[in-house]
Amino acid sequence: MSHLFYQGRTRKPVLAQARGVYMWDEGGKRYLDGSSGAMVCNIGHSNEAVLEAMRRQMEKSTFGYRLHFETEASERLAARTVEKTPVGLNKVFFVSGGSEAVESAMKLARQHAIATGREQRWKVISRSPSYHGCTLGALAVTGYATLTQPFAPMMREMPKIPAPRAYLDGLDPTDPATGDHYADMLEDCIAREGAASVLAFLMEPVGGASTGALVPPTGYMKRIRQICDRHDIILIMDEVMTGAGRTGAFLGADHWGVTPDIVVLSKGFAAGYAPLGAIVASDAIVDPVLDAGGFAHGFTYAGNPLACAAGHAVLEEIDRLGLIKNAARMGDRLRARLDGLMERHEIIGDVRGKGLLLAFEFMADRVSKRPLPKEYDAYLRFVEIAYEKGLIVYARRTRDGVEGDHILVCPPLTVTNTHLDEIIEVLDQSLQQFTAELPALKEM
Ligand code: PMP
Repeated sequence: MSHLFYQGRTRKPVLAQARGVYMWDEGGKRYLDGSSGAMVCNIGHSNEAVLEAMRRQMEKSTFGYRLHFETEASERLAARTVEKTPVGLNKVFFVSGGSEAVESAMKLARQHAIATGREQRWKVISRSPSYHGCTLGALAVTGYATLTQPFAPMMREMPKIPAPRAYLDGLDPTDPATGDHYADMLEDCIAREGAASVLAFLMEPVGGASTGALVPPTGYMKRIRQICDRHDIILIMDEVMTGAGRTGAFLGADHWGVTPDIVVLSKGFAAGYAPLGAIVASDAIVDPVLDAGGFAHGFTYAGNPLACAAGHAVLEEIDRLGLIKNAARMGDRLRARLDGLMERHEIIGDVRGKGLLLAFEFMADRVSKRPLPKEYDAYLRFVEIAYEKGLIVYARRTRDGVEGDHILVCPPLTVTNTHLDEIIEVLDQSLQQFTAELPALKEM
């Protein structure tokens, strides 16, 4: 009997040990962590350098309240984070996770508006589908009806624009006209809402859990930046999943040379070694807030020295092991091999992503892009089959707009060719079993 209820009524095996890209349950069964947990454990499990840095920090101190003390650990991590993020983003604020970081980014933007005499600005435009967290503020900017609807009466509705899904709309993602087409939706939304009321635009550079590794079309990101500049709107980039090297660059936004006003980090930032998140913002955003009396916001565990020591050691390991390059190189290889699976398995309708943030989507028919019937719960079943065979993958169904079951394949950035062989082998077998369980695709 478990007293925990976060897994619903299903029971999961007890985790006994995790090392590198592998995890073992109590019964000795081995799993390849093909989703890095929830796209968290980017440097693999039980990295000795990180454990050692945490041990050293524990010997010094495990807590210092931010209003009483500065800590060397948080100062060092802040300096390293500023080095890694685009020029001009100089100010860092630590939190304990992604939702807290998204909340903090939105509240910082709001306080900046107040401090600069633009008090009427409060709307944060975001996209649908999207996922930005589970606290009420982060949920209000999340485009995922299953998660948001029960809480709708408790939240202030925020405007949403469609996430660019060129593959479903039959548009060429490499054509700049496609990028313009989707970016214009932001322009239209701002016009509809009234630019003077819009505070910020929030987006993930490469969609994560909600869209299954959706990469923006050519020209989209630059155009979004221009639109935000034109209307004096703060661009917040949610890099919770894409940040810290996952896509083959430190930030997802780096691929397009776009500098956000506020960057949101968590997940791979401390890679599962400690609960940690951060916002990184420009002086232009933070200084007016500090001049006006400071940021009226903060969490008890903010800047926790143990979490910051872990985060710092993770960033060091990313550099020492060349993991960002490896994410790009292995990402290309894995992508090509997923394309190979698509050739062999008719049920895969799309393969997409960047670096090691990769996904494939099931379709009953590739031409019409018809999804599998909802009642099949394909995404859950496929995860179960792969899990039985010792491969962990992460899956979701996008319920906003067009339905679609997608499977994220996002191993730690430390993966080797041998690991890729194992991942593809198990996916291949799992796809065969999954397809055999379904009625013929044509009948769906
Ligand atoms: N933003 C994005 C893009 C995410 O993927 C997530 C978590 N899946 C969050 C925010 C929320 O992070 P957390 O679960 O750590 O609160």
